[in-house]
Amino acid sequence: MDSITSVHVVLFPFMSKGHTIPILHLARLLLLRTGITVTIFTTHANSPFIRQFLGDIQQSLISVIELEFPSNIPELPPGVESTDHLPSMSLFIPFANATKLMQPDFERSLNSLSTSGGVSCIISDGFLGWTQQSAHKSGIPRLVFYGINNYAMTITKVLAMDRSHVGLGPDEPFILSDFPWMKLTLNDFLPVFNGSETEGPHFEFVMETSIATAKSQGLVVNSFYEYESAYLDYYNREFIPKAWCVGPLCLAEVQKFDRPREKPDSIKWLDQKLAEGRSVLYVAFGSQAEITEEQLREMAVGLERSEVSFLWVVRSKGEVLEELEEKVKGRGLVVREWVNQVEILRHESVHGFMSHCGWNSALESICESVPILAWPMMADQHLNARLVADELGVGLRILASNGSVRGFVGSEIVEKMVKELMEGEKGEDVRRKVKEAGEAARKAMEESGSSWRTLDQLINETCRRKDH
Ligand code: UDP
Repeated sequence: MDSITSVHVVLFPFMSKGHTIPILHLARLLLLRTGITVTIFTTHANSPFIRQFLGDIQQSLISVIELEFPSNIPELPPGVESTDHLPSMSLFIPFANATKLMQPDFERSLNSLSTSGGVSCIISDGFLGWTQQSAHKSGIPRLVFYGINNYAMTITKVLAMDRSHVGLGPDEPFILSDFPWMKLTLNDFLPVFNGSETEGPHFEFVMETSIATAKSQGLVVNSFYEYESAYLDYYNREFIPKAWCVGPLCLAEVQKFDRPREKPDSIKWLDQKLAEGRSVLYVAFGSQAEITEEQLREMAVGLERSEVSFLWVVRSKGEVLEELEEKVKGRGLVVREWVNQVEILRHESVHGFMSHCGWNSALESICESVPILAWPMMADQHLNARLVADELGVGLRILASNGSVRGFVGSEIVEKMVKELMEGEKGEDVRRKVKEAGEAARKAMEESGSSWRTLDQLINETCRRKDH
């Protein structure tokens, strides 16, 4: 294979933590190769997070360009430049559409980069579909990153074309003929993908971004081939553009914890649990989940009654959590600030993860061989939960008492499933499987592994400029 020479990659992540973090890991992986430089586009308010995240990287290899986030968008509160700061995720579409106003600025910067040495390729988020036009105008290949896995991507596309489910109830099981082993329900998909929402701003956004993706030169997928080969192979046989598995990207983080530093309080607490010989359940629902007060209360009661030790990282405030903290002092810890989730999952005391199954969280758990208690809330999370629990067998599933994947979950179910994961036989089974999965993930990311080789190949085929 040709070696990579003088490649300049522009990365443009979407402004949400779940989309930005994996792209930053990708930057790290690109820079482990010789001859590659990276420029990251972002906005002023997102820049400090990015600069801090990549603070240990040699400055000559990476630069960050800050663009102005559009102001005076009637629906958006001023100063909000990341979805985790939106007062409600119902503002997602106005937020995503606002980014389109950044196109002229982006193109001006891109042009100045092109005159000062050139850009080999752009890897931009699928939600920033308008960057496809910018790339096309400048004659630069664009690769798309959505942050979802092959399973969710493939099943969603197949569902869009297979109309056999039309007229079914939201929780009625059905199968897709090419995947007969898999039970699905319409509730596993967002309305915009399951045929129940066929017009309106969200539908238009999906159409626009999908067309931009189809016109792009490839899809960068945060997963690894061995784990989802059936879905990746199917996708690449049936759909365009070609998808490339280069993950799990979170494994690029490995070196970071070796540096001497003051441990965060949550890690000190976990050290203490380890010394007491207690297994800890880590509980977190990502950076943007919206949980009703009523549901939060059931979670809290279930955790309290389960009698397991737990570390709960949560954005919500309020008396439910204060009461819980009081009741479980010593056994449970509630943390309200940003933590390094990978560091927590890697801690020896952590033996389970109650998670919303954002794909980053699920992958991080798999990589650290921590079994998952899947409790999806929104977006692609219901499909991720199916993948984790039904397909890969690395987690158990929380379902409402009526069996619905979207229903209200009572505290008795939370208590039962937490005990099952941490102490039960089914928990043992998924623990064994996630260990194997974690080992396979690490192999894929080694220098001879499938993901490492795929990233080399992707850069060589799509981004390489020959110096001669
Ligand atoms: N995360 C973190 N600390 C926090 C909250 C979240 O490091 O306090 C990271 C987490 O490790 C993951 C990302 O934020 O990498 C969240 O992405 P995910 O896809 O799991 O969920 P989302 O937030 O997009 O729903």
